[in-house]
Amino acid sequence: MKKISLLGATGSIGRQTVDVVREHSDQFQIVALSAGRNLGLLRDIVSTVKPSMVSVQSKEDCTALQAEFSHLDITFTYGSDGLAEVATYSEAEVVVNAVIGSVGLEPTLKAIEAGKDIALANKETLVTAGHLVTSEARKAGVKLIPVDSEHSAIFQALQGEQEKDIERLVITASGGSFRDRNRAELEGVTVEEALNHPNWSMGAKITIDSASMMNKGLEVIEAHWLFGIDYDKIDVLLHRESIIHSMVEFQDTSVIAQLGTPDMRVPIQYALTFPERMPLPSAKRLNLSEIGRLHFSKMDFVRFPCLKYAYDAGRTGGTMTTVLNAANEEAVAAFLKGKISFLDIESLIANALDWHQVIYNPGLDAIQASDSVTRNYIQTLLK
Ligand code: NDP
Ligand code: MG
Repeated sequence: MKKISLLGATGSIGRQTVDVVREHSDQFQIVALSAGRNLGLLRDIVSTVKPSMVSVQSKEDCTALQAEFSHLDITFTYGSDGLAEVATYSEAEVVVNAVIGSVGLEPTLKAIEAGKDIALANKETLVTAGHLVTSEARKAGVKLIPVDSEHSAIFQALQGEQEKDIERLVITASGGSFRDRNRAELEGVTVEEALNHPNWSMGAKITIDSASMMNKGLEVIEAHWLFGIDYDKIDVLLHRESIIHSMVEFQDTSVIAQLGTPDMRVPIQYALTFPERMPLPSAKRLNLSEIGRLHFSKMDFVRFPCLKYAYDAGRTGGTMTTVLNAANEEAVAAFLKGKISFLDIESLIANALDWHQVIYNPGLDAIQASDSVTRNYIQTLLK
């Protein structure tokens, strides 16, 4: 029985992790979990999963849940200390990090310190502090297993291969909600339109990131840190169908790709069973003769400037990616609240990147400070 701590249980990845665990209740058990503010869903999850520890965002919610679930033997906790307690829960062998945003960084570092393997969905953690997370994981000898479908695909394609043989990584992109619009047609798009992703059903923030192509930018940086590959050797390819989840080209020109129907439960399960596999009977099998055709096209950096900002920030390094991420989180939140237009997202990010004085090889304090001043800077611009 593999015991799991799940951060972000009420989110899109969190719920699908609960589904995978339910489908294999003889193999997996969630012993500790965290949520933010969605108490309705959390109650259902707690009643069925019956974890030993639960963390929520606020003290008030924690107190209310304690009273409600007094008949079960559950420790309730809250806030950033609560996230850390769930991440380091002694019985757990692996931590699935499915929170959204750089709030996932500290619990990831604490879990690594506590010797837990990490199944990482929370890409913002690697964007904001990839050098710290990967070096700490190496030092602690813990596995960092990707959940993001593209990185899971690359990770699978790399099994049994050697780093010296890698020619380049090719990350596929569906193009998001606005892939068939030109830039002029992005003026005045609504939140509802942006949230309507053609291939994947995901949380709100990552759906907006997909529409702006920032999601792919974050994934390029994520791939750089996970696989130790130079930015010049990471390409992005538009692929509408999201069937090829990504690929690796080797020096002998061979290309290994991983394919499947778009279903996040597959990479979630693989991160939990690695290096083995298990059946997932409820997942739809890939039928290529039914699909018939797959489409590919070159990525346009003028149409999708956020992707360019991400490559540039990644190449600059230091705190530049921290700023990219923090500015994006604030801008997307403002867009979702209807405070700014869709195209304002990229302008705000460009502005923050211009404004920032990069700090090279930053420690955790410098990263947290850069994250926080960038958020304040964006808030000032919003006023
Ligand atoms: P969601 O927004 O659906 O879920 C986020 C989770 O984090 C929820 O449980 C939420 O709690 C919790 N949370 C949010 N803010 C806080 C906070 N301040 N403190 C504690 N908990 C918090 O996100 P997704 O599941 O879509 O994405 C999660 C991560 O996985 C992201 O990094 C995303 O980029 C990545 N990812 C997601 C994919 C997908 O298909 N969704 C695909 C690939 C990667 P609550 O809702 O209770 O407030
Ligand atoms: Mg992805």
